[in-house]
Amino acid sequence: MKRYSIIQQEKKCAVCGTTQNIHIHEACFGRNRKKSIEDGLTFYLCGRHHNQSNEGVHFNHDLDTKLKQIAEWTWIEHYGKTEDDFRQRYGRSYL
Ligand SMILES: [Zn+2]
Ligand SMILES: [Zn+2]
Repeated sequence: MKRYSIIQQEKKCAVCGTTQNIHIHEACFGRNRKKSIEDGLTFYLCGRHHNQSNEGVHFNHDLDTKLKQIAEWTWIEHYGKTEDDFRQRYGRSYL
């Protein structure tokens, strides 16, 4: 499946803005990873802000929550849905 993002147009790190060493991160990973890819709930992150340091989203709970909130807002806006719809699809709301 083609990977795309409804959250970011440009391939630069959502945290620091660099264009170097960019990874694609699914906002909702684990068992929701596939839905996240289908819905375009992906972020571009540099290695440091992804999983190559302790600051990365996979090791930093606060950053993870922040990105999930942005993803949920964007999802609701983009698809004209509600928080309840999100909860149904992803099992919970992060708002
Ligand atoms: Zn970064
Ligand atoms: Zn990731």
